[in-house]
Amino acid sequence: MSEINDILNRCQELYEDLSLGYVQRWKEMYGKKAVGFLPVYVPRELIRASGMLPVGIMGGGDQIEIIRGDAYFQSYICHIPRSVIEMALSGKLDCLDGMMFPSICDVIRNLSGMWQLMFPEKLSIYFDSPQNFESDTGGIFYQNELKRILDEFSKLSGITATDESLRDATALYNQNRRLTQQLYRRRADKPWEIPTSELYLLLRAGNILEVTEHNQMLERYMALASKENRKPLDNSRLVLNGSFCEQPPLGLIRALERAGGYIVDDDFVLAGRMIKSEIPLKGDPLENIVEAYLKDSKDVPFKYNIENKGDELVESFRENRADGVIFCAASFCDPGLLEQPMLQGRLDKDKIAYTSFQFAENTGQYQVIREQVGTFSDTIKLWGGQ
Ligand code: SF4
Repeated sequence: MSEINDILNRCQELYEDLSLGYVQRWKEMYGKKAVGFLPVYVPRELIRASGMLPVGIMGGGDQIEIIRGDAYFQSYICHIPRSVIEMALSGKLDCLDGMMFPSICDVIRNLSGMWQLMFPEKLSIYFDSPQNFESDTGGIFYQNELKRILDEFSKLSGITATDESLRDATALYNQNRRLTQQLYRRRADKPWEIPTSELYLLLRAGNILEVTEHNQMLERYMALASKENRKPLDNSRLVLNGSFCEQPPLGLIRALERAGGYIVDDDFVLAGRMIKSEIPLKGDPLENIVEAYLKDSKDVPFKYNIENKGDELVESFRENRADGVIFCAASFCDPGLLEQPMLQGRLDKDKIAYTSFQFAENTGQYQVIREQVGTFSDTIKLWGGQ
């Protein structure tokens, strides 16, 4: 078996292992603790600088039967909180000593409240990121929030983060951001060399693996991918938008690829891509993390921005020489579906073609979506996307 297949098989095992065997082994090996976080973004630098392993939890996908999770939520919300509850109640998340819930929507807010009731003995942090992006307002709020979180981490791990440990962690995650961006650029240049299903598995591995291990994996994969001699197809080039939180099942991503379009940009697994460039290492490390979020983070549905909504999507469309956009949002995702008309209005302004559909993380039938995306790809190939 080739080395690239070994890497991908390892990623697939990590993706399928909902009981987090890697995290359990890491904890036993190093005698340290692990902190989970829900989508979309937390500054993982803080967890690492406090001597713990950050673990991204993205639900159970199509691999878990929901039995008890449904009892906790009404039927007309997205799927991810049900599978997270199911995983937790069946003991799959027992190895996590704490959990962070980013303030992205009411569903995650409610989940964080339930978590506190269900697991009062575990650290549970509701992570409130600012909606004001001025350094002297939102910035001060955010710094205080991060200091509060560092205090909690210090009590949990017994290790107090220092400026030095924060800088070391930032340097490692900078390398991770650099490599991930390189992977995205490489895919946009030659999407036949880096299929999206493979890129996706690599991103998901980054949720679990210790960051130096993930950095090595990304470097090795990129070195091997160019030698695979995969041939280009006459596919259209598509930017995918809307999957920033609940993720489509891997089978659906593969079905999209087989529908005749190359995905050349997407918003999957944003934990490692939320900050767009490297965070400076000189100066106050906490302030640098804060400024990066305020001034250099992606435009996502849970960030308040009505002035230039959609500009980033149009920029991605142009930079990646795309032919069209597909909106692939989780059913009942309020932030994503409320933002979509604004994004579509922006695309209309520039006469950019798009299509949209919705999914749930446990969607099992892909045929209709595949036909829709296939027809869209053929149409823009024949008549142009603009
Ligand atoms: S999928 Fe949308 S509604 Fe559901 S938890 Fe995520 S952001 Fe909230």
